[in-house]
Order: sequence, then structure tokens, then C-alpha cells
Amino acid sequence: MTSKKNSSEGTEIREYHTSFNGLFFKVKKLLHSRQSPHQKIEVVENEYFGKILLLDGLVQTTEKDEFFYHEMLTHPAFISHPDPQNILIIGGGDGGVLKEVLRYCIKHVWIVEIDPEVVEVSEKYFPWLSPALKDKRVELVVADGNEFIQNSDRKFDVVLIDSSDPVGPSRRLHEEDFFRKVKNCLDPNGVVVAQIGSPLYQLDQIKKKTAFLKKLFKVVRIYLGPVPTYPGGLWCFVYLSDAVDPLVLRRKPPVELKYFNHEAHQTAFSLPNFLKNNKS
Ligand code: SAM
Repeated sequence: MTSKKNSSEGTEIREYHTSFNGLFFKVKKLLHSRQSPHQKIEVVENEYFGKILLLDGLVQTTEKDEFFYHEMLTHPAFISHPDPQNILIIGGGDGGVLKEVLRYCIKHVWIVEIDPEVVEVSEKYFPWLSPALKDKRVELVVADGNEFIQNSDRKFDVVLIDSSDPVGPSRRLHEEDFFRKVKNCLDPNGVVVAQIGSPLYQLDQIKKKTAFLKKLFKVVRIYLGPVPTYPGGLWCFVYLSDAVDPLVLRRKPPVELKYFNHEAHQTAFSLPNFLKNNKS
């Protein structure tokens, strides 16, 4: 996905999904724009979607539709895992996934984010992050997720990989070696969930990824969720485990959620033919 834009006020951000099509957002106000040691971080105000976080010109989250992605990445693991207590989030510096995890009676959650500036900027512009970071169950670790799990001797019940696109600092979080390390720090009853991209624009990547994930995990289940501001408006996630079946539910989802519920969970795992038949 590429972006050609000029994000000063009164202009448009254009995120190209191919050379022929993409998404655009009118910039009502440019709130933040700085190159960090890892990536370009921007926050703009849009009349309809509210504040929008962009990394290297690509939309990460918006105030208006963040719940689609954050609920679909988090809750399938938490309503199916027997007893989720020690949780690891890799990436996720905007805090959207963290706020969803804290809806459950967990013991401890580590959030490993490579870029502290994403956290600072998100704390300033996305109201949900500060209260989440102040929760005593939360430990923010500023580190490369790949190195963190390499050196971790802890076993996690649930690992949520909220990485950005497979470019720049996030590239290695999409590779086989990384998932092998994730498996090494997973409790035998553990569950891993990762965002794996657009079923429309990144089908080959999804196919390659499921192929190597099947070598590492007994349960490899792709599921889908709509994300209006992501390329193609539909996003793919993968549920990984050696012991837990995502469709055997252990608890009800929190009632206050805006998108996710029991039926949405069942639907998400009911794949269309082009994905079903495309599995290696
Ligand atoms: N939902 C978004 C998506 O699908 O594109 C991702 C949102 S979240 C903001 C992605 C976060 O991953 C960013 O804050 C980025 O700094 C962080 N990140 C990228 N590479 C990382 C790495 N190697 N270790 C830890 N965090 C990383």
C-alpha cells in the first residue's frame, strides 16, 4: 500500500491501495507530523472519521471506526481461552487493543511497542489510551517485539500481534521466525491472534503465511472482520493454538461492545470460498 499526499490543512490524504485506487481523507486540521527514529507519525483531524493516526502515510486507526478492528483482534481469543491471565500485546502503541483486553479480569498485560512516540502521540490524541496505561495490570515495554520474545522466559496465555504493515519496523513481525519465537513463549493452552492483512490485496501473503503457520501450530483458523478505513474495508486475522478451538466458547463477550458479539464471532470464522479454497 502506498500513500501520496500532502497532509497540510485543507488538503487531502490519499492512501493508494493499487496504482489505480485507494482511500482519501480531507484534512480539516493537521495535529501532529514528525519523523521518529522508526517511522513518520501523523495525526490529522477529519470531519467524518475524527482523529486519524497514520504511520508512514498509512491509516492505523481512526476515532470513528477503531472498534471494528480492535474488538475483532481481541475478543475471539478471550471468549474461547480457558483462563486468560498473562497477556502479551506486540505493537498496538495506539492502545486500542489494550483497552479491549482490560475489559477482562486478567492478571497482567505486557504491551511491547517499538516506538515510544506512537504511545506519546496516541496518549495525547486518542482518549482511551491514558486510562488504559494507568491501569496497574499494565506494563508498557518499549522494545522491538521480535527481541522481546527472543529474550523472554515467561509463558503467556494470550498473545495479540497488533503490528503495522509488513514494511519498516514491522516487517519481521510477519515472518516465520517471529511466530516460532512467539510459540516458544506461549503456554501449552495458549492462543495467538495476529492481523494478517487484506484478503483482497494481500491474498498471496495470507496464503504464504498460513502455509508456514500450519507447520508451527495445530489450530490455524483465519477469520474476517470489516474495517471501513483499511484497504478493501475487510481484514483478515489468524487464530493460532495447539489446544484451543476458537468455536468452543468459554464466556460471553462484554455486553458493552460496539461490534463484537457471539453471532459476529461465528460469522467471522465462516469463510467465503475464495479464502476457504485458497488455504494451502
Ligand atoms: N492496526 C494497525 C494495522 O493493522 O496497521 C496497527 C496499529 S499499531 C499502531 C502498530 C504498532 O506496531 C505501531 O505503533 C508500531 O510502532 C508498532 N511496531 C511496529 N514494528 C514493531 C516491532 N518490531 N516491535 C514492536 N512494535 C512494533
